Amino acid sequence: MLSVTYLAMSAIFLVRAVYALVHKSELMDPDVVQVLTVSIAFVASLVCSYGFLLLAKADADRAMARLAMEDDLTGALNGRTFREQATAALRLAERLGHPVSLLMLDLDRFKSVNDTYGHATGDAALRQFSHCCRDTLRNTDLFGRIGGEEFTVLLPGTGAEGAASFAERLRRNVEARPTPTADGTLLCVTVSIGTVTARPDESLDSLLARADLLLYAAKRAGRNIVRSDLSPPCSPLPRTPAAVPA
Ligand code: GH3
Ligand code: MG
Ligand code: MG
Repeated sequence: MLSVTYLAMSAIFLVRAVYALVHKSELMDPDVVQVLTVSIAFVASLVCSYGFLLLAKADADRAMARLAMEDDLTGALNGRTFREQATAALRLAERLGHPVSLLMLDLDRFKSVNDTYGHATGDAALRQFSHCCRDTLRNTDLFGRIGGEEFTVLLPGTGAEGAASFAERLRRNVEARPTPTADGTLLCVTVSIGTVTARPDESLDSLLARADLLLYAAKRAGRNIVRSDLSPPCSPLPRTPAAVPA
């Protein structure tokens, strides 16, 4: 609308200028038409300028809101926003009697990615990982960055089995989507995941703590692995076979 109004005003003034040149009339003659034209043009330009400012402010407000809620590099929710939204989702699911699951994710040996390929490639790998997560998630799931290469996902309406199979699918997708590096080679990044399903009245902190334990179990088990609260406990160390008498 602003562009149309500015174009219409420009056209009117152009016609007036041509008319004045051709007819050699005085543009500043104080007749009713002159006063009306100039007054309307003045008011229109004021309204348009104000409209333009409002549009620019709406854009800036949107950008500020996004910056306040999202992590700049990956577009994931920042830790504070994730906690707020996850707590609300947890309370809602509890009231409705729906299951909720939480995933804790940590990229494997990411320090050596930075050390080998540089920080910029590390950043590109983090962005690629986030794209992959968002492509795998549903609209209602929450995806947050809670540390450097540590992320968390909340799956409202998903039980333990669904969460474990979702985490496995995500793990495979991440593995299958390498990041191109500066020298043209492909960098394969993997992720270890711990998944838990909320118990009645369980707090977000308790969910995060349980998922963290399973994540570290996945790391200890060799990385690029999902450990869920359904996973069988780690097998005990094999016992030394008893000596057989000769
Ligand atoms: P593990 O498999 O045990 O998780 O090993 P790791 O090397 O991933 O773990 P560690 O915690 O030792 O290293 C995390 C690394 O992640 C170190 C840090 O430089 C890197 N990192 C954290 N945030 C960023 C970031 O925003 N960009 C880049 N490029 N690297 C980051
Ligand atoms: Mg790591
Ligand atoms: Mg880490």
